[in-house]
Amino acid sequence: MNQIDQYDVIVIGGGSSGLMAAINAAQEGVRTLLIEKNKKLGRKLLLSGGGRCNVTNRTSREALVQHIPGNGKFLYSALNQFDQEDIIRFFRDKGVALKEEDHGRMFPVTDKARTILETLEQTLNQLGVTILTDTPVDCLLFNKEGNPRVIGLKTKAGQTIYGKSIVLACGGRAYPKTGAEGDGYAWAKAAGHTIEPLYPTESPLLSNDKLISQKTLQGLSLQDVAVTVWDDKDKPIVTHQMDMIFTHFGYSGPAILRCSGHVNLYLRETGTDSCRLSLNLQPNLSQEALLEQAEGQRDKQILTILKQWMPERMAQAICQCVAIDESTPYKQLVHKQVQNLLTHIQAFPMTAYGSLPIEKGFVTGGGVSVKEVQPKTMESKLMPQLFFCGELLDINGYTGGYNITAAFVTGTVAGRHAAWASYSV
Ligand SMILES: Cc1cc2nc3c(=O)[nH]c(=O)nc-3n(C[C@H](O)[C@H](O)[C@H](O)COP(=O)(O)OP(=O)(O)OC[C@H]3O[C@@H](n4cnc5c(N)ncnc54)[C@H](O)[C@@H]3O)c2cc1C
Repeated sequence: MNQIDQYDVIVIGGGSSGLMAAINAAQEGVRTLLIEKNKKLGRKLLLSGGGRCNVTNRTSREALVQHIPGNGKFLYSALNQFDQEDIIRFFRDKGVALKEEDHGRMFPVTDKARTILETLEQTLNQLGVTILTDTPVDCLLFNKEGNPRVIGLKTKAGQTIYGKSIVLACGGRAYPKTGAEGDGYAWAKAAGHTIEPLYPTESPLLSNDKLISQKTLQGLSLQDVAVTVWDDKDKPIVTHQMDMIFTHFGYSGPAILRCSGHVNLYLRETGTDSCRLSLNLQPNLSQEALLEQAEGQRDKQILTILKQWMPERMAQAICQCVAIDESTPYKQLVHKQVQNLLTHIQAFPMTAYGSLPIEKGFVTGGGVSVKEVQPKTMESKLMPQLFFCGELLDINGYTGGYNITAAFVTGTVAGRHAAWASYSV
């Protein structure tokens, strides 16, 4: 066997998780190869956070896990080894200061994702990691005799490369133009792993509600509203209080993106074709407070009263929904009409029949089942020497830095343990 074709650790995928995995493997002093199909590393990382890279989130361990609705709890053991504060320290030690914005979101002070990528690339080079770009991997190679284990890979160009430990860091299927085309799922399957069905998360919702099909509110954005996803027993699945926007095909904006994974899961699990949502336009006021404010302005027109709580177009849409002329003075409403109005202010009905596809969403839901992966090491429970990290795993977080955090955390742990495991071969 040619010396150059034998590594201690091979990391497949040069994105957020793979860069970190290769750095951590090399830090343990083992011969490390990072192999990437694109001509350049970190294409998705460069796009992240609108080109600014929301690199992590400064929050408590509990809140971090809660903001990773797709198996966040699986990360506890990994977070004990490397967490969001370690990410901040990692970059600070390399001379990259991060700044905190709203909701704990951390960005490089340069406001450039390139700063993050270049720092990771410099670290790889300093550690002597061999980097092969423009080299798509075709498949993994397994030991067929004796104890089964992964032993290497074959590139699409037909080159065979052997490794004592292999880390799969090839991402999910969101934004495939960045290289994340879902190649890793078939390899995980070949190693005996279960792939939990994929679904889009952090993806705008599709709706054929009348006000969407008639484009009544297209382009209207709402600040600090609460969106709730309901199940078929009228139990709330999740509520998110953030901004949202009406689009020509449905609903989008941060609150909607956060709800989208839950909507897709609900639709898939129930087999129904529509999911019910509601919109609270004044989530910080009780119904009694709203009523009191309205009663204090009995002579005013309905539209005037509504406009103090929401944009005019939304107020007009509500008047249409409850079939009350917007110029009607409040004092002329009967009790039932007032109740109906309040319901529409705090539980405006919406539906969604799905979301934009995975390719257009930010993050892939589903993936390599975490039940078959060691949470402390990211090693496969089924195939020795095979490790997983990043979005390829059935782990997904909300926007806000949680996905890159999950990628860095799992990448760090996978790289480190892959290096240690390579000593045993
Ligand atoms: C537009 C956008 C903005 C985002 N912004 C943020 C943000 O600000 N903060 C945040 O926390 N999350 C953000 N995310 C999510 C986050 O970027 C991803 O969850 C994270 O990068 C996943 O890391 P990964 O290493 O698993 O996969 P990726 O970063 O996708 O890396 C996978 C790599 O594997 C390579 N690869 C795939 N197949 C092969 C193969 N056959 N051979 C060789 N190489 C292969 C790919 O080319 C790719 O480089 C954003 C996502 C998108 C789409």
